[in-house]
Amino acid sequence: MSYHLCATCGVEQDPHTPLPEDCAICADERQYIPLGGQVWTTVESLSGQGHRVEIHEVERGLYGLHVEPKFAIGQQSLLVCTPQGSLLWDPIGFVDAAAIDAVTSHGPVIAVAASHPHMFGVQTQWSRALGDAPILVADADRSWLARSDGPVVFWSGTHEVTPGLTLHQIGGHFPGSAVAHWRAGADGRGLLLTGDGVFPNPDHRTVSFLRSYPNRLPLSAAVVRRITDRLSNLEFDRIIGNFDNMIDCGGLEALEYSAARHCAWVIGKFDHLT
Ligand SMILES: [Zn+2]
Ligand SMILES: [Zn+2]
Repeated sequence: MSYHLCATCGVEQDPHTPLPEDCAICADERQYIPLGGQVWTTVESLSGQGHRVEIHEVERGLYGLHVEPKFAIGQQSLLVCTPQGSLLWDPIGFVDAAAIDAVTSHGPVIAVAASHPHMFGVQTQWSRALGDAPILVADADRSWLARSDGPVVFWSGTHEVTPGLTLHQIGGHFPGSAVAHWRAGADGRGLLLTGDGVFPNPDHRTVSFLRSYPNRLPLSAAVVRRITDRLSNLEFDRIIGNFDNMIDCGGLEALEYSAARHCAWVIGKFDHLT
């Protein structure tokens, strides 16, 4: 059986049905089909081309995984290690035996979860190789799940992975967009893993909120306030995205400042600057 994935976004497809003409995620207005058209690939093909997973420590108990040479969107996965086991967050679109050995050397993986459908990667192949670790999928985004033959657990609202590590549905980028809140992260100051729901900017001081990052589609002031309200009662100081982007400290203040700035712009308070 062939387990195909999209070469542009790295998301796996259902092995039991014929491949669609285009990847549904890339054909959506938030993504793009490359000029040359849809390309499908497999993990085996990528391995034959020399791709591999590199792992580095981001902070104590948190590891980043990325594919070398770069493949698809090029995001990093994050492995959150707790005394009860690990969460594999935003699984990349490639996996091999060496990567599984490296991940499990930090303890058993108790869940695989993506912040939103752009980050599904090859989550079912990861789960299978990790002893059928549950795949947590926000119920609001279940229609984006091309491959659903794994041990999928649908959730909504909040979902405790293990005490001190909880998923929160914030919506916005996708209706089911989620963050992972790790209370012990950032050496006890609290950490948010945000995917694309809250995007740390290159200035290291502010974040952005968008429906599409590649195609620059905005979100309304009401939605950004709703996202901020859902996060502002959590204890965190650091925010980490998927592209080596982070707010090292002062994360809550950065979130609130950025939300106020976003809302002021979209309701026209700064129109005199344009
Ligand atoms: Zn795709
Ligand atoms: Zn996204």
